[in-house]
Amino acid sequence: MPTVGRFAPSPSGRIHLGNIFCCLLAWLSARQKGGRVILRIEDLDTARCPRWYGEQMAADLRWLGLTWDEGPEAGGSHGPYWQSERTALYQAALEQLEARGLVHPCFCTRAELHAASAPHREDGQTVYPGTCRSLTPAQVEERRRTRSPALRLRVPEEDWGFTDGHLGVYTENLARDCGDFLLRRSDGLFAYQLAVVVDDAAMGVTEVVRGADLLDSTPRQLYLYHLLGLRPPAFYHAPLLLAPDGRRLSKRDADAGLDTLRPRMTAEELLGKLAYLGGFHPSAAPRTAEELLAEFDWDRVPRRDVRIPNGFFNTAS
Ligand code: GLU
Repeated sequence: MPTVGRFAPSPSGRIHLGNIFCCLLAWLSARQKGGRVILRIEDLDTARCPRWYGEQMAADLRWLGLTWDEGPEAGGSHGPYWQSERTALYQAALEQLEARGLVHPCFCTRAELHAASAPHREDGQTVYPGTCRSLTPAQVEERRRTRSPALRLRVPEEDWGFTDGHLGVYTENLARDCGDFLLRRSDGLFAYQLAVVVDDAAMGVTEVVRGADLLDSTPRQLYLYHLLGLRPPAFYHAPLLLAPDGRRLSKRDADAGLDTLRPRMTAEELLGKLAYLGGFHPSAAPRTAEELLAEFDWDRVPRRDVRIPNGFFNTAS
């Protein structure tokens, strides 16, 4: 089957080194197999992801030479490529699950959920305590009068695992490690887990390369693929880039944003440095994305988060 990879950035700010690193690996992984690449802008939360940021991301990716065959500007037969324009597809998937009795409303606020005695996982995420799982129709009716509910998928006490192309076997018990998870928020926004599954399947994506922070979302997504009768892609989870002090990079790290980096160096200088951190380029010497195709090798990419050395991106090499 021909390889189809994708970039799926959420444009809630200017693209930063962590996103670029993932996009570079996604691009190299797909292109090395002669595959195609899709750009999909994950702007479901339009209040946080204004259109302009998405357009800026596309322009930044183009500057980096990370080309795509389908997506904004390129067009293609699987559009629209902005998630905010694809909500009818998410609604249809939700209705399919609802019709099978797999969805329940949940009236809990974030604070209530946090306070509930659900076990907290090591990574700080909470497990849904099941508070609204067994409400009677009358209780639902009554609560609806004062609050609009979120919608959650009922999950069974089952292990769901997979073999990650980079990190190996990963398994979670859906009920114990996560609990009933969100499909739609109380404000009506569809949840990432549902949208990403519907879109990757509808767009014919065969491999997903993304940050290791999403590794633990994958069992939930595989369960959705199963329920919706869709074929899952292969998954590769890439190490996260950490700031020199060991914190996870975020859009708030001004030094890691392209607004700071782009005026300082060429795209080739930036890619050479990222490839060096990715373990598949022997020095930080400048390289185009095309040139890196000959060097890229998943086996060389670290399996743990990568700390950016102090000052590493402050100067061109
Ligand atoms: N939109 C997500 C992000 O920017 C990525 C989702 C995915 O790759 O599955 O973190």
